[in-house]
Amino acid sequence: MNTFSIHSVLSKIASLTNVRDVAALEYSLAQVLFDLIAPVNLNGQKSVVIYHVKDIEKQIFTAIDIGGGSDEYASSPKLNQKLVDCFKSGGVCTYEQDGSPLTALYPLKNAKDEVMAILAVQVEICSTWLHDTIIMLLHIYQNLTGLIHENEKDSLTGLLNRKTFESKINKVLAQIHQEIKRKGDKLGQVFFLAIFDIDHFKKVNDKFGHLIGDEVLLLFSQIMTQSFRGSDLLFRFGGEEFVCVFECANARDIELILGRFRSEIENFKFPQVGKVTVSSGYTEIFADAVSSQLIDRADVALYYAKNNGRNRICCYEKLIAEGALQESKIEGDIELF
Ligand code: GH3
Ligand code: MG
Ligand code: MG
Repeated sequence: MNTFSIHSVLSKIASLTNVRDVAALEYSLAQVLFDLIAPVNLNGQKSVVIYHVKDIEKQIFTAIDIGGGSDEYASSPKLNQKLVDCFKSGGVCTYEQDGSPLTALYPLKNAKDEVMAILAVQVEICSTWLHDTIIMLLHIYQNLTGLIHENEKDSLTGLLNRKTFESKINKVLAQIHQEIKRKGDKLGQVFFLAIFDIDHFKKVNDKFGHLIGDEVLLLFSQIMTQSFRGSDLLFRFGGEEFVCVFECANARDIELILGRFRSEIENFKFPQVGKVTVSSGYTEIFADAVSSQLIDRADVALYYAKNNGRNRICCYEKLIAEGALQESKIEGDIELF
């Protein structure tokens, strides 16, 4: 059944290498397979599906059905169990439903060998040729995800770099819109953006040199990674400036989270340098925001923190409510540090 030319395979692979985003890469990979093998199930529909875990214990998955559009997916208990097996084992599994062609489940792994998603390919005859082709495409996928992730990172700290900020924050805004659509105004969680700027960092460089300065930046980023949750987005924005995007169950949590981090930094003894402090400004992420507006707001709150003693955290919305800042004066008239 697979009689296409080497040129068509190469052109599909070339289309994969053109993608710069992991989600888009996943979709392209599935699309390439869909086009290559053109599997047809018993209902006459092509079937290549990508599954993501929503809750592994409850066996809840989301599915992107190539050719079928993305939706919440309620699959059979038998398939769900196979998906769990595939996620946990990281090996290829097969699944058969009475009267349906065989479905082969392939784990999509990142460069660290962690399973990111499952690719389910339904085929009438699972030939060795087809299996080997899929395995080779998965290797290409894994190498490409490694490159994409590498490209997103700051080389000194390993945090996300500034270049990726726009696309990451736009995904968060899209998520907020989607949640609002689903739940109306009763949005459960709240999102915040915070900017951190190390206090008097120039003095650290001047007194101890750039290398020790770099070590402070590295340790600072490590404390940050330990202090915040894995799902929080942490960026090195430039020099000694960092940006974080948080999702909180309720608005009160953010003060605790940021306050804890501020005091962790204050209490950490940096080798040679000793005590270092950090100031932060933060703002709530609202659905219709644009990224520059959020950065501007957090920056204004940070500027206030710097001018009012440093080693403190200021909330843009609170400063407005307290009358310490005037809203009209702020937007579009920003002082940068
Ligand atoms: P403030 O409390 O107002 O933030 O004062 P500051 O000294 O931290 O701020 P300023 O913006 O004047 O200085 C930031 C310094 O950060 C200046 C620059 O030399 C240093 N810097 C920027 N990038 C790096 C880097 O990659 N490594 C090191 N070691 N230093 C850096
Ligand atoms: Mg600084
Ligand atoms: Mg600065």
